[in-house]
Amino acid sequence: MFSSVLIANRGEIACRIIRTARRMGLRTIAVHSEADRNALFVEMADEAHEIGPPPPRESYLQVDRIIAAAKSSGAEAIHPGYGFLSERAEFAEACAAAGIVFVGPPASAIKAMGLKDAAKALVAQAGVPVVPGYHGSRQDPEFLRQKAYEIGYPVLIKAVAGGGGKGMRRVDKQLEFEAALESAQREAANAFGDPRVLVEKYILSPRHIEVQVFADAHGNVVHLFERDCSLQRRHQKVIEEAPAPGMTAEMRDAMGRAAVEAARSVGYVGAGTVEFIADARQGLRPDRFFFMEMNTRLQVEHPVTEAVTGLDLVELQLRVAAGETLPFGQDDLSLDGHAVEARLYAEDPERSFLPSTGRLWALSFPEAPGIRIDTGVRAGDEVTPFYDPMIAKVIAHGPDRGTALDRLSAALGRTIVAGPKTNTAFLRALCDAPGFRSGAFDTGFIDRNLDALGAVERGPDEKAVALGALRLIQEELDDLAASHASRSEHGSPWDASDGFQLVGERRQAFPILVDGARTEVTLAWPKGELAVTAGGATARARDAEAGVFARTPDGVVVLADGRQTLVQRYDPFAVDLEHLDSGDSITAPMHGKLVAVFVAPGDQVEKGQRLAIVEAMKMEHALVSPRAGEVAEVLAEAGAQVAEGARLIVLAPAAES
Ligand code: ADP
Ligand code: ADP
Ligand code: MG
Repeated sequence: MFSSVLIANRGEIACRIIRTARRMGLRTIAVHSEADRNALFVEMADEAHEIGPPPPRESYLQVDRIIAAAKSSGAEAIHPGYGFLSERAEFAEACAAAGIVFVGPPASAIKAMGLKDAAKALVAQAGVPVVPGYHGSRQDPEFLRQKAYEIGYPVLIKAVAGGGGKGMRRVDKQLEFEAALESAQREAANAFGDPRVLVEKYILSPRHIEVQVFADAHGNVVHLFERDCSLQRRHQKVIEEAPAPGMTAEMRDAMGRAAVEAARSVGYVGAGTVEFIADARQGLRPDRFFFMEMNTRLQVEHPVTEAVTGLDLVELQLRVAAGETLPFGQDDLSLDGHAVEARLYAEDPERSFLPSTGRLWALSFPEAPGIRIDTGVRAGDEVTPFYDPMIAKVIAHGPDRGTALDRLSAALGRTIVAGPKTNTAFLRALCDAPGFRSGAFDTGFIDRNLDALGAVERGPDEKAVALGALRLIQEELDDLAASHASRSEHGSPWDASDGFQLVGERRQAFPILVDGARTEVTLAWPKGELAVTAGGATARARDAEAGVFARTPDGVVVLADGRQTLVQRYDPFAVDLEHLDSGDSITAPMHGKLVAVFVAPGDQVEKGQRLAIVEAMKMEHALVSPRAGEVAEVLAEAGAQVAEGARLIVLAPAAES
């Protein structure tokens, strides 16, 4: 075994790797960007090296700087985690060239599985079922459309170099094919520098079921059972579990064998995941699953497999990378209970899951039986626009699926995050959704149930507004009382606050900001007790203990039912961005990069027309026109970094009618 490892990653996965490496007695070395100087993983590591500015391209994707850090620190191995360089064959090669062990498969295996079309051809030869489709090299639209027709609609267009659900379009009819092809190719070219696509049959009632495989360098390959990752949004996983609901022994065996074959066909070594899509119209059937792709790395959702197998996959990765033989054979492995993982993201389900940034004013997770929390941040840290918006993974294990889901739901209910908006309440609703509980779901479940899951625009939580305002006013009164009391001997707070202009009025309007927007609450003193009313909700002094509050420098975040409401004092002298904007300008919804601008001054646009695309946190967000009109100004160019709230496009004032 080597004695030191450098972690070429950040956040929760870096923390998770450091924990295992430390337990094994290895020295841990972190590399980090400028934005991560004070990050938890940097603090945890024995040694840390700064490798560049915040954008991944300039730091976490800088192969040479990472190798240099490894050499200067004497690291014997590099663990790439997931994302970033984990699936770059050149990185594995660069490690080898520097005489450092790459904790992952051989570069040749990464290459073989790197392009979806080539990977499919390869595993099909090894007898693994693949989705019917066209995986060849011809790319002209006429030809691909003909192929789509032959395959039969619906079809799925996929970027061959794809990942993260990008460059993927479902097409239901011939008429829509060309437009879908064009946008898939453009997205693929932007994201991967490779516009090529494949076309395959869209599987109906699809379940995403993947098999964890492990291989050592001595020819042993086993599988560690399956995970079901069918709860997805935009082809991205949200909740994952092991084992898959409804799985039969026969199907598990068939999938396990296919996965092992796929791994063998590329000379795989280490941890890998073979992803399959299953046609679940008639439940899970051993003749109805197809290879989609192989991820040649550790997966985000690996903890559910660890829970049900009792293994530490990172420890196994390190041991296999050091040349050790797998300490078990297929027959030694068995399943223990059920595990579920939820990905807690800084995003706002009430605003189409828009990523949310900012300081974590409060962050705490429950400790409970069967609950594991993997996170890379602590209270006071900042969620920046540069990286993935994942705050934590909440993992629950139990003797059966119902218990695991109950535990996860309860843990989410006791999770406190104040600052960036999060999907905590949405995850909890998913956990409790009868359709998911029953096990009869597919990858379309989330999209079909957005309303029921609470992912819809809702008005402000009036009770929370009243409670928050009450808190702020009470604090102000207390401060006043304290300063008064320090000067005079006697005095109840009420006498002491005589000078406070609110006191003595029967009713008083009080301006505040709720989630940044100006509004008013009403104060009254029935029977001498302060009562604050917001819309239809009233909070009294005795309710003040009812909420969960987190302080910000100039306000308070009220947490109730998984929703956050930020209540701040209204400062009439601060610039009111909300009202500067007369509805004629289109602003950046968050910090990010402007990747495309589709209009120029003088263009006529329709209401709802796409004007530009901002990319942040690995996601693209279309900016659409709020009304029909003429573009007056375009204030930023494609490629520019833009700040949240920055004006990007201005429409000419609407003509009076
Ligand atoms: P998985 O099936 O494991 O979710 P993905 O291909 O969606 O696989 O990506 C794996 C994970 O890697 C993502 O969820 C994300 O957390 C991380 N990741 C990928 N790319 C990046 C990146 N550019 N920056 C930060 N994290 C990334
Ligand atoms: P990525 O590299 O982005 O992870 P995948 O090929 O793994 O791409 O597909 C991502 C998701 O898209 C899958 O988890 C599944 O939900 C959906 N998907 C992929 N192929 C098909 C298909 N042929 N039919 C239906 N859904 C599919
Ligand atoms: Mg995939």
